[in-house]
Amino acid sequence: MADTVSVLSFQLGVFAFLALICAGLYAAMRSESSLAWLVGALLFTSTLTVLLDLLPTSRMEVAVAIVAMPAAIFCIGEAVRLVLDAPRHKRFWKLVAGAAGFAMLMLYAGAPYLYIAILLKVTLAVALLEIVFLLIRQRPHHFLDWPLMAVLVAAAMLFVARVPLWLAEFSPETPYAEFLLAPFETTMLLSSGLLMAAVVVLLMFRGLSQMVIDLRFSTSRDVATGLLNREAFREQVALNRAAVGSVVFCDIDNFKQVNDSHGHSVGDHAIASFAKILSRNVPIAGRMGGDEFALYLPGETADEAFVQIERIRNRFASSRLRGADLRFTASFGIATYRRGECLARALQQADAALYEAKKKGRNQTRIGDGSVRIPANDTMVATG
Ligand code: GH3
Ligand code: MG
Repeated sequence: MADTVSVLSFQLGVFAFLALICAGLYAAMRSESSLAWLVGALLFTSTLTVLLDLLPTSRMEVAVAIVAMPAAIFCIGEAVRLVLDAPRHKRFWKLVAGAAGFAMLMLYAGAPYLYIAILLKVTLAVALLEIVFLLIRQRPHHFLDWPLMAVLVAAAMLFVARVPLWLAEFSPETPYAEFLLAPFETTMLLSSGLLMAAVVVLLMFRGLSQMVIDLRFSTSRDVATGLLNREAFREQVALNRAAVGSVVFCDIDNFKQVNDSHGHSVGDHAIASFAKILSRNVPIAGRMGGDEFALYLPGETADEAFVQIERIRNRFASSRLRGADLRFTASFGIATYRRGECLARALQQADAALYEAKKKGRNQTRIGDGSVRIPANDTMVATG
């Protein structure tokens, strides 16, 4: 019993330490709710550990265990769901609540502890595997998803592995206190506790990493269209490893009139629909501001990109705005950009070509001839 008590005290210390870190991060990270669920999971597990550690074995203790274990796993499931931004998982919820409810019924109907424990552990193992499936379905995978899945599977296996051992060692008449005294149960408890701590630590890192990813994403995107913003577009083109590519400037034609005649919200709708066509057809697309966009087609010279851009132009010109029977057109200017060359110069060429397309009547694509001068400060000039 002394061994069991020291193991449980050790677990309690680990859980309390982790709960403190999670709670501190929760406060520091402006109430990131996945961390709050992790604190919840640790509190439930700690409650259970305190009970096992301090109280004499009683029916009440088993009842608390029946609530605390599923509650801890529910909290972990919610933390994972929030980190992944996944919808509420009904089957998981039903499994956890069902396990707790049915085990409680069995307890108060006087069923032997052995059967209650088997039901609880097997159902909770399935619930843990549900969390694993949630992670498997997630795309794209974060590198921390793999160790997290491995630890969750190990925890589920540990739950199930107890069953044959219990059946071999105990009879249905074995009192609850004897379960805790068995040496293999001490080992199992310690292993479960360590796995639980590993799940919490991994989830904490996974959640924090996701926050950084989301933050980076939001600072590099245009909110209305989801395309790259001006700075991020330049950055992405500069980072691309293609030896040759094409930069394109494009702008919706007579857009002011659209706003004036049909209202700003129809204008917004047209911008969103143009952005959608661009993002579906070009690997790197950015919104430069207003109704002006920039594209990068790696691996294609301006002449090669011309065919693809014409296809995009025709698609936009022939598409109708949903909810309003309106059509729009856009003009495009293309320039070749070779890696190592001045990007600002290529963008200037594309911009000049767009200006030509507007001047020549709009709804057309022009290729820059290179006859542009770059400004001294090497910045991109966007004209509409
Ligand atoms: P051009 O064919 O020469 O491009 O003519 P244009 O009327 O489209 O002229 P320009 O591109 O300069 O007009 C851009 C207009 O787009 C000006 C502004 O009122 C409008 N605009 C800018 N941003 C937004 C937006 O987010 N939503 C809406 N609805 N309109 C916007
Ligand atoms: Mg325009």
